Amino acid sequence: MQTRESCLQADGQDPLARLKSHFALPPGVIYLDGNSLGAMPRSAHARSARVIEQEWGVGLIRSWNSADWFELPSRLGNKLGRLIGAGDDEVVVTDTTSLNIFKSLAAALRIQRQAHPARRVIVSERDNFPTDLYMIQGMIDLLQQGYTLRLIDAPDGLEQAIDEDVAVLLLSHVNYRTGYMHDMAVTTAMAHRCDVLTIWDLAHSAGAVPVDLARAQADFAVGCTYKYLNGGPGAPAFIWVAARHRDRFWQPLSGWWGHSHPFDMAADYQPADGIRRYLCGTQPVVSMALVECGLDIALEADMSQVREKSLALTDLFISLVQARCHGHPLILITPRDHAIRGSHVSLRHPQGFAVMQALIARGVIGDYREPGVLRFGVTPLYLGYADIWDAVEILKDILDTGSWDRPAFHRRARVT
Ligand SMILES: *Cc1c(COP(=O)(O)O)cnc(C)c1O
Repeated sequence: MQTRESCLQADGQDPLARLKSHFALPPGVIYLDGNSLGAMPRSAHARSARVIEQEWGVGLIRSWNSADWFELPSRLGNKLGRLIGAGDDEVVVTDTTSLNIFKSLAAALRIQRQAHPARRVIVSERDNFPTDLYMIQGMIDLLQQGYTLRLIDAPDGLEQAIDEDVAVLLLSHVNYRTGYMHDMAVTTAMAHRCDVLTIWDLAHSAGAVPVDLARAQADFAVGCTYKYLNGGPGAPAFIWVAARHRDRFWQPLSGWWGHSHPFDMAADYQPADGIRRYLCGTQPVVSMALVECGLDIALEADMSQVREKSLALTDLFISLVQARCHGHPLILITPRDHAIRGSHVSLRHPQGFAVMQALIARGVIGDYREPGVLRFGVTPLYLGYADIWDAVEILKDILDTGSWDRPAFHRRARVT
């Protein structure tokens, strides 16, 4: 596929191409940042109008029952669960990924204190998304029980880091910067051989790559809905807990929404049976309602077709950059091997920040991550082969002409 015509031909035969019409994308934009904030489903407009005007405006307090607001975390959790290999009543949509890391880590450590009271090590990757590491650090400080964080520097150091001192292994399934993807089943089995509990962060996996939590026998999982699931800016996250662990402990953010009978207004906490014990307080109903729009589109797509197209698009991107942008100091940091690649491509460039700003000014929206990394998220639901072709041609032009080297492209805003 080394001409624009062949890319257009591939678009014509793409079984997922019809899904693009479900999204509202501005003209003149090639959106390669769906791994950071997904595009807006067209249905979000009508859904938000309904929830604001009808459910809130007319239904008022009655909508907790009549519009089933109270059940939203579970109803959406069940839909989301189908995308990650979870069963019914195993997932709730709630809170943020950071908070769900706190809850799952607290529960996993509590379970391990009964099973292996001496274990005091939590293992993660130095290159994990910072909030994952920050939440672990906060937990260690809060507990004051001598826990330590053991960080590995490369995925192949993992096996060595897992021993009988380790209580919990917390990993991102797909690395936010490089796009490296762990083999969840193999890694979980390795952890289980040492009786280590696993927490998988699926922020860059859910809706992007096939995930089968049940088959992998994972223990806990969390993730975002505003990335590949197109739930909307700041949309609530999700949490999954394996059925075998769910009722062994609750979690310390034991607010009334996780109570077995919240409207008994009892003085003592009694956790709900099942996954609802992982809820804390009143949910952001407007934002949560919109999550369903993105989920419904994801459920329309066949995940194996999504994966196939994602790999074809990222392959195309890599090979076009190689063919069209050679001579420029770009270094591919995403694995070429399909088995360990997520759904984005990252390139390092000494002036990565300015190059990305120049791309954005030309309508090719990706993002920038330290150090020097240009990140291009590939969302097969609304991107085609010709989009990839056009994006690389614009990248080539920016690099060939040096047009990235303007003062405006070096200026940093608060959010990169
Ligand atoms: C995006 C991302 C998060 C975000 O966490 P929030 O609490 O939603 O801000 C967490 N973990 C990973 C791996 C991510 O990529």
